[in-house]
Amino acid sequence: MKLSPIPNITLNDGNTIPQLGFGVFQIAPRDTAQAVSKALEIGYRHIDTAEMYGNEKGVGEAIRASGLERGEVFVTSKLNNGFHRPDDARKAFSTTLSELGFDYLDLFLIHWPLPTLYGGDFVSTWKMLEEFYRDGRARSIGVSNFQIEHLQPLAAETDLVPSVNQIEVHPYFTNEAVRAYGREHRITTEAWSPIAQGKVLGDPTITELAAKVGKTPAQVVLRWHIQRGDIVFPKSTTPSRMKENFDLFDFELERADISRISALNRGESGRVGPNPDTFAYIPR
Ligand code: NDP
Repeated sequence: MKLSPIPNITLNDGNTIPQLGFGVFQIAPRDTAQAVSKALEIGYRHIDTAEMYGNEKGVGEAIRASGLERGEVFVTSKLNNGFHRPDDARKAFSTTLSELGFDYLDLFLIHWPLPTLYGGDFVSTWKMLEEFYRDGRARSIGVSNFQIEHLQPLAAETDLVPSVNQIEVHPYFTNEAVRAYGREHRITTEAWSPIAQGKVLGDPTITELAAKVGKTPAQVVLRWHIQRGDIVFPKSTTPSRMKENFDLFDFELERADISRISALNRGESGRVGPNPDTFAYIPR
């Protein structure tokens, strides 16, 4: 068997996760199985989906059709915003498993904290995820889009520390304080929209460094994440870009160049996605 070039990261529960994966946000349900099949063929062994994306079924189909063992592919899904109440969360988790056609999930996340909904009670929702972890159907559990003030009540009032916090991170929004809280509390950061949905790729600092190391702008930005220790899962439906985004392990950025990329941070105005403090969207 060919050895994977992708490093594994060990989570606080002892499970391991490939540091590079493939994200399927905004891939149409009818195109998802084909995209995931291509990703698996290239060598990706970690897929990031969500109930909200409507494409869990295609992810499961592609994994089954690949001939790989279930245990060879790390799959994450997320609890949708309409299902934070405990009974709804139970049903939603079962539906996620049946859409994927799996009897367990590698990682299940609360997609958004929604502090302005459900009376601000995401702690009860987290306790449901603890239940899925204890019954073995979620091998690891974590959160997404949690700010420090959302992580603190979990630490004070619940038993398990989230294994990951999946948050927006890219050169225009480096999200350092939340990342630092994660480091201090053994919560691994997963960086979503790692290339800012393409917006950072024309930045003069990035294109200059790409020319210097002989790689593409996307590879430089993804390598920056890898060397900072975060987990990434860029999305692409373009096979050549899927290959490009996988090819990150034969070069290194110098420490000074990593700092130059981090210095592109624009703070709040650099976000490409919503602010978790106010995001209150419930899909119908
Ligand atoms: P990305 O930062 O991964 O960017 C995706 C976009 O960049 C697509 O338009 C893609 O185009 C383009 N692209 C990809 N690779 C290249 C390349 N090498 N060169 C040029 N352009 C490229 O954005 P996403 O928002 O999709 O984030 C990635 C993943 O993060 C998602 O799929 C999802 O799994 C997760 N996520 C989680 C969120 C959360 O709330 N937890 C929120 C947002 C994302 P094309 O497909 O046409 O090639």
